[in-house]
Amino acid sequence: MSEFKIALIKGDGIGPEIVDGAVKVLDAVSAKFGHKFEYTDVYMGGCAIDKFGTPLPQETVDICKASDSVLLGAVGGPKWDGCKERPEKGLLGIRKALGLYSNLRPSILKPQLKEASPLKDEKLKDGLNVMVVRELTGGIYFGERRNAEDGSWASDEEKYSVEEVERIGRIAFETAMLRGKRVVSVDKANVLDSSKLWRRTMTELAKSYPEVELTHMYVDNAAMQLAIAPAQFDVIVTSNIFGDILSDLSSAIAGSIGMLPSASLGAGKCGMYEPIHGSAPDIAGQDKANPVATILSAAMMLEMSFGLAEEAKAINEAVDKVLDMGYRTPDIYSEGMKMTGCAKMAELIAENI
Ligand code: NAD
Repeated sequence: MSEFKIALIKGDGIGPEIVDGAVKVLDAVSAKFGHKFEYTDVYMGGCAIDKFGTPLPQETVDICKASDSVLLGAVGGPKWDGCKERPEKGLLGIRKALGLYSNLRPSILKPQLKEASPLKDEKLKDGLNVMVVRELTGGIYFGERRNAEDGSWASDEEKYSVEEVERIGRIAFETAMLRGKRVVSVDKANVLDSSKLWRRTMTELAKSYPEVELTHMYVDNAAMQLAIAPAQFDVIVTSNIFGDILSDLSSAIAGSIGMLPSASLGAGKCGMYEPIHGSAPDIAGQDKANPVATILSAAMMLEMSFGLAEEAKAINEAVDKVLDMGYRTPDIYSEGMKMTGCAKMAELIAENI
């Protein structure tokens, strides 16, 4: 029997409902495979602002650092729009505090959900199975910010070092080695010096991975290619801001954002696992949220941080089974299917572990 400490950041909006759903499924895994998962609830985001006056209390950082991994729901919402410190600041802060410099987002089109994709059948005939590897703690979101005193201009700095590009590049090449051995590095090297450095560094790094084919693509073309021929991609590696945008696009193509997980990793085994969507305040507390993205995030945690590949597979298979049985939350519902709520969906997946 193995024991793992998991910090739970339920967060705001639908966060508590979807994390509760994932815990139900983890408990089923624990019962079937005999592992012990010890959960600790911690506050971050809007709920932390309400309780502690800050989106990221030190206690949250300490508990997350002492855990084997973190499972996060989502943070934010209109309630905190006027706050000096926004809930999302907690998110950037915890990634930095845990040294999570890479974000891995698999976008897989499940055959059961083909009708949920906005793309036409002909564009999806070869499927979609892309892993977007996004740099997470550098670039413009963390660069120097400046504002004119009179409010007439503002600027943000995009800056990357060779070391930052190399470490995210390694994650991408190693991920590709376990998949289709193809990496597309996305940049804007025709305009930006930071992208020229990015491209040069990726090209150099590729020499250490002779089995992997590296190609480069400008970000505007990458967005177009994702929309017109998504099957061409295996692994995409890109900067923080380009990854933010492209990973939302690749996930939209795969159907609902309610289906897609992500993993944020650093140098160690401890990672933070979360759905790619936000706190969906429009449906919070109504039992309408799709818990699958969070449940699949928990599966990624088992595989990538705890080395429990068989258990992760059991979760993925249980999700497929429940979809095959025709159960759908409202975001992925189509005629003839069985409409179900967030709690029931999680329960069904747990029962099928
Ligand atoms: P969102 O992802 O919360 O919602 C976009 C749309 O998708 C909404 O219509 C929502 O109902 C739907 N949706 C999202 N998740 C769903 C799920 N699991 N099941 C069914 N439908 C789902 O994005 P938004 O509306 O732009 O942002 C809402 C808040 O979330 C904002 O405060 C934003 O800053 C925050 N946010 C947080 C994170 C995070 O915590 N990692 C990420 C993105 C946005």
